[in-house]
This record gives sequence, C-alpha cells and structure tokens, in this order.
Amino acid sequence: MREKLLLIPGPSPVHPRIISRLALPTVSHVGQEMVEESAAALGNLKKIVFCERGEAFIIAGAGTLAMEMALLNTVDKGDRALILSQGFFGNRMAEICRSFGLDHELMESKWGKAVLPEELEKKLSSKRYSVVVSTHVDTSTGACAPIRDYAEVLRDRDVLFIVDGVCATGGIEERMDDWGIDIILTAAQKCFGAPPGLAILVVSERAMEKRKSIISIPAYYSDLLRWLPIMKDPSKYFSTPCVNEIRGFCESTLIVLEEGIEQRFIRHKRFARAIRAGLAELGFTFFTETPFLADTLSVINYPQGIEDKRFRSLYYENGVVVAGGLGETAGKVFRMGHMGNLSSSQIHFALVALEKTLGSLGYKFEPGSSSRAVKAVLGE
Ligand code: PMP
Repeated sequence: MREKLLLIPGPSPVHPRIISRLALPTVSHVGQEMVEESAAALGNLKKIVFCERGEAFIIAGAGTLAMEMALLNTVDKGDRALILSQGFFGNRMAEICRSFGLDHELMESKWGKAVLPEELEKKLSSKRYSVVVSTHVDTSTGACAPIRDYAEVLRDRDVLFIVDGVCATGGIEERMDDWGIDIILTAAQKCFGAPPGLAILVVSERAMEKRKSIISIPAYYSDLLRWLPIMKDPSKYFSTPCVNEIRGFCESTLIVLEEGIEQRFIRHKRFARAIRAGLAELGFTFFTETPFLADTLSVINYPQGIEDKRFRSLYYENGVVVAGGLGETAGKVFRMGHMGNLSSSQIHFALVALEKTLGSLGYKFEPGSSSRAVKAVLGE
C-alpha cells in the first residue's frame, strides 16, 4: 500500500511508535500489564489537561460517546444546558440533548466565528443555566472558541463548564484546574495522533459530585459511576476495554509529554502559521475569520475554477488526503488538519504536493513560493 499523508481533520497520521505498540499481542484486560498501562494513560492524560484533582476516563467509543457521556452525567431533570455552538459539532451537542430529552438552549455564532464572551455574559444574566457547553475547535468551520475567556465569565457562578476538546486537547492549551473547566471530553484520533476508537473525558470533582447527586441517568454504558471503580482500579471489570488501543493511546500520551506540553502548543501554532503562509502565498483565502483561526486545522476557500472533487482526488494521487466541507460549506472549501505528531518535512511535502496538484489543474501561481513562505515562518 502506498501510504498517503493523512491531513484530514482527524484521524491524523499515527506515529510508528504508536503503531508498534498497537501491534503487540492482546493481553488480559484485567492483568497486571493492562492495569499499569491504563493507570499510566489516565495519569498522563490528567497532566496534559493540567488537572490534579478530578477523574480521567478512557472508554471504547469515540468523541461522540464522550459528548453524550458529558451531557448525560451532568444535566439533571429540571436543569437547563446552554450550548455555545460555532458549527456542526456544537449543533451535535444540541441533537444529543434532544435525543435524551435534556432541557437545553442553543446559542449559535455565525459559521467561521465563535460566540463572544460578552454575549455569553449577557445570556447568563437573562436566565439560569446549570451547565454551559462549548466546542473548543469546531472541525466544520475551523473556528477556535475563546475557552479561557468563557471560563472567566463562568468563574464564581454555580454553572458547570463542559468543553469539547476533540479537535484541540493535546494541541491547544486547556488548563482544567486553573481556568475552572469541569469536563474536557476528547478522542484519540486528533491531537494525540492515535487511531480512532476511544471516548476520553477528564471530569472535575465538582462535576463528579453533580453526577452523584443525580438519582438516575438515562444511560448504562455511558454512566460515569459505573466506570469510576474501573478507572481507580483497572483490574476490576465493567465492560471489556480495548486493550491494544489503550496501549497505543498510552504511547501517544508519552509522546506528548516527551515533546513537552507547552512546546507542543507552540509547535501547533507555528505549523498552523507556516501552512497558512504557504497557502496564502498561492492566493488561497480562509473560511474562518482571522481572530478565530485554530491551530489544529484550516478551512480553505476554493479559488474560482477549482472544483472540489477533482482537486481532492488529484491531491490524493499526489500523496495527500484532505477533507471536503461539511454542511453549508460542502463543495466550497477543503479542510486540512495540522495536528498531532506532524513533522515539518510532512508540512513541506503537503505544500509541494499542493503545488503539483494546482499545476495540473492549470491554476496560476509562482512555483516554489509556498515552500519559501513555509521556510520563512519555520525559520529554516
Ligand atoms: N467534536 C468535534 C469538535 C469533532 O471534530 C468531532 C469529530 N470530527 C467530534 C466531536 C465527534 O467525534 P467522533 O467522530 O470521534 O465521534
């Protein structure tokens, strides 16, 4: 198989170190090796989101299960959740609430932007909400929400704050304890660069208390209280964990910590700037409004004359996989992920392959200009 460079907004390329951990023989899910591996993955995860207290959960599933778990375990009857949405995945939070009859209100920003902290503040003074939910980076629009500012608005209020970090955690700063986030939910396949297959949550003491105060929730597998004893002692059984995937994820957390979490945030920022400089040099513009541009992916407008499907299939032939637009942007943009364990040579490769693709589509540009722009940003 000719491997393609996977620059969709997740899954991101899986590092060979993670692949080789995944390939080890499957062992007992309650044996000593898995007990150690799970405990290490949970501990590392808490370090990555700067959570000292609170509980980490790693469960077979994916990001959507983690979204569902976060809502089901915190929104009680009589509670109302406020969902700040900047796109497709924020709207999914509202769909989940609807599916389970959880009382909620959706506050949507224009696509390409995010709800402003002052808009949140105004909303909170108009009505009582028990839980506020926000996507950190909405993968449909490439917009990064001002999570730290939201947390500041929520500080000292009796409101839980849930953050969907699926497209951010491990690549963009999220400080649970300091900022006052109650749940960060995420998945393995984006900034961690592990394969998809895990629902991941870190839950504050306050949010755990909230779950304990709810008499029953409309869930069985998704009930944090059924998983809590297993996370505290992985030799116990509730439902068979995905042994190999947990090993792979544990390796991904080690890679994050070896790079250095602060260093990793800086690298994501630099790579995002470099890629965007290269794209801008070729005349591309971005769907996301500048103040909201995310470090983990770019949503790029097609210039006149470039047709989505033909462009993406040629780019694929030239070695790079990118994604099309979601919802209202379908056919008008392509989405390029730049998160996880990418190297600068992979970024250079992506732009060389892009120039080759554009060249065969008859698009006019100065050959080599995007690579020069990338080099300038990366200081090479
Ligand atoms: N939230 C965000 C921001 C996402 O980007 C995604 C996946 N693209 C999800 C949630 C859902 O995750 P999954 O596809 O793993 O269920």
